[in-house]
Amino acid sequence: MPSLPFPLTGLPKDEVLRRMRALREDDARWREGKTFSLVYFAGDEVSAMAREAYGEFMAENGLSPMAFPSLRRFEAETLAMCASLFHGDAQVAGTMTSGGTESVLMAVKTARDWAKAERGITAPEMVLPVTVHPAFEKAAHYFGVTARHAPVGPDFRADVNAMRALVGPHTVMVVGSAVAFPQGVVDPIADIAALAREKKILCHVDACLGGFILPFARALGRAVPPFDFEVEGVTSLSADLHKYGFAAKGASVVLYRDAALRRHQFFTYTAWPGGLYASPSMTGTRPGGAIAAAWAMLHHLGEAGYLAHARQMLKTTDALKAGVDAVPGLKVQGDPPATVFGFGSEGLDCFELGDAMEARGWKLDRLSGPPPGLHVMVTPAHARIVEPFLSDLAQCTAGLRAGQPAPAGSAALYGMAGAVSGTPELDAFVRDFLDGLYQVE
Ligand SMILES: *Cc1c(COP(=O)(O)O)cnc(C)c1O
Repeated sequence: MPSLPFPLTGLPKDEVLRRMRALREDDARWREGKTFSLVYFAGDEVSAMAREAYGEFMAENGLSPMAFPSLRRFEAETLAMCASLFHGDAQVAGTMTSGGTESVLMAVKTARDWAKAERGITAPEMVLPVTVHPAFEKAAHYFGVTARHAPVGPDFRADVNAMRALVGPHTVMVVGSAVAFPQGVVDPIADIAALAREKKILCHVDACLGGFILPFARALGRAVPPFDFEVEGVTSLSADLHKYGFAAKGASVVLYRDAALRRHQFFTYTAWPGGLYASPSMTGTRPGGAIAAAWAMLHHLGEAGYLAHARQMLKTTDALKAGVDAVPGLKVQGDPPATVFGFGSEGLDCFELGDAMEARGWKLDRLSGPPPGLHVMVTPAHARIVEPFLSDLAQCTAGLRAGQPAPAGSAALYGMAGAVSGTPELDAFVRDFLDGLYQVE
């Protein structure tokens, strides 16, 4: 039984917009710097650039380069500019995608098809540090590639010896992250790539999160090891323009060492009565706005703009990390070089601390662990919240330590999830949650 009838008559634009704005009431307050994920806000001026470029090309479709030479050019140039940023030479080739997940899916599918064509491998496997983004698990699931999981070391970086032990005759690819989402650390890419070279297999670097911050952090003198095409043996790399690239959502790049490798990504169907069909990536229609806004942002900010934002975000991150470490019982996990970090606690329940902070308006992602933690992703919007955030953190921590009960929140759920993680029961529970999302109130 449908719970909402199809609208009978149209409403005026202003009325539609009024209703939409009213529904925003409870949304995450990213503009105020009170959330630490999902939105990368670099101020109204930067936002306006993305919005206008997106709006300008909103109707255009990147599926047909013949119909829209403008979009073809934006994409080709965006890829070339990114290849430059990531130390690629003229051979490096890629495509834009709708986001990090699609970039990762494409890198895995490309590895699978490359290995089948070049090595005759029909039951492909890939070796992943446990900290890689779930997009790799999704790719394994969608494309029939078996994921083998290697632990990380005490510094939260991939344990390359453990990875080596998992490489076998069916392994098509090894993966490292720069940075990995949970603790924001950079895996030992040079060692992972050397392993790939030795085994004559592919090596993907997931720089979805770190791609548009690490090069600038490095230029500013931070201890960022080589992580991109500068490293021999790295055969592909993903980087999200819609994260620290500050582009409009729906923009990422996946780059390959050369065009021969990229050919395994493409899909073509030439027997369709509807015409010759060629699609570079997962999606059919490709939103022109996202491609245009990415090109616009690279030109609008330029290296100088990204450096300025990076300088400010790193300063904010340093202050936040030092402040967290100064709270008795709290500690930053590992030694993250960029603008993403996790912190844990020796004596306290991090999830209760997360709930206590949430009651004060701070939304921190929960790291289910092990070890459990809270997650901070610093953007320009956080420059002005350092003091109030740290003060609330100290007060919440002291409160919990003094035996104050944590406000009701997700701590119980996370406590339970820790005990049953990876079980069919928890998967079913989470699927029920997804089912519930589509109910109309
Ligand atoms: C965000 C992220 C992804 C996936 O990107 P989406 O744009 O959310 O699809 C992949 N890898 C890492 C490390 C990420 O942080």
